[in-house]
Amino acid sequence: MDLELRDKVAVVTGASRGIGHAVALALASEGARVAVVARDASALDKTAAQCRDRSGREAMAVTADLSRLDEVERTVATVRERLGRIDVLVNNAGAIRGGGFLAIPDQQWLDDWSLKLMGYIRMARAVFPLMQAQGGGRICNVVGAAARNPTATYLTGGAANAALVNFTKGLADLGAPSGIRVTAVSPAATRTERWDALMAQQAAASGRSVDEVRAEAEAPYRLGRIATPEDIADAVCFLVSARASFITGICLTVDGGATRGVYA
Ligand code: NAP
Repeated sequence: MDLELRDKVAVVTGASRGIGHAVALALASEGARVAVVARDASALDKTAAQCRDRSGREAMAVTADLSRLDEVERTVATVRERLGRIDVLVNNAGAIRGGGFLAIPDQQWLDDWSLKLMGYIRMARAVFPLMQAQGGGRICNVVGAAARNPTATYLTGGAANAALVNFTKGLADLGAPSGIRVTAVSPAATRTERWDALMAQQAAASGRSVDEVRAEAEAPYRLGRIATPEDIADAVCFLVSARASFITGICLTVDGGATRGVYA
């Protein structure tokens, strides 16, 4: 299947490790020119070099803290200046912490949402006029399946993700007349450093051992494993490709069948 991603310019946030890293490499394997964004400059440089190897094309690293509006705007301006256009945006950078509802201070909600919620919104707002002027584009938001599966020790994440599902659908309506498709991929548990950190935070919040919390969290996965970053990357690549040209406004759950309910 030809995804027709060759020479497209794709920006991937949170690409220094985990899901974003896998998405960047997958897009590069399809021949995209990839701009990777995160804070860790040396990890990003390695990712950009791997992208170059896979695509045989230009790739660039932008070091930025995407929880800040000025850094978001600088990121988009830098990519546009160097690569000339932006065809694909994958919003993925997120680091919402788990914890007990009554123990999480107000500032933690604001800090965590400034990256995961406002970071996605601001990146979309910054690329949207470029995509409108180009006559189209694709935005894919990585939105945790916690959107539809509330957990008392991860309310900050669940609420931000639920908002992003709504944002995805509404933005798809706004983009459609300009040929901009907006979708979301919704991973459940995925084997990254973040999953390990979340298990530790939720164990601390509920006063149980990490092993116990992990065993309970991973039990619903009847395929016998949780997701790999590559499982999520493949779904993102499909949704931003020409093979998904009549798909917009949807949130594709990639959870190995774990979510209960027939509309997941
Ligand atoms: P991860 O391994 O912790 O990677 C997070 C990425 O975000 C890193 O590249 C990190 O790079 C970047 N990042 C963190 N803070 C940033 C900031 N202020 N500015 C710019 N970049 C920043 O996480 P992951 O598991 O791959 O998760 C990626 C996304 O998928 C997140 O939005 C997460 O909520 C979502 N998700 C994950 C799971 C899961 O089970 N893993 C499940 C559902 C949804 P630097 O530290 O270099 O900045």
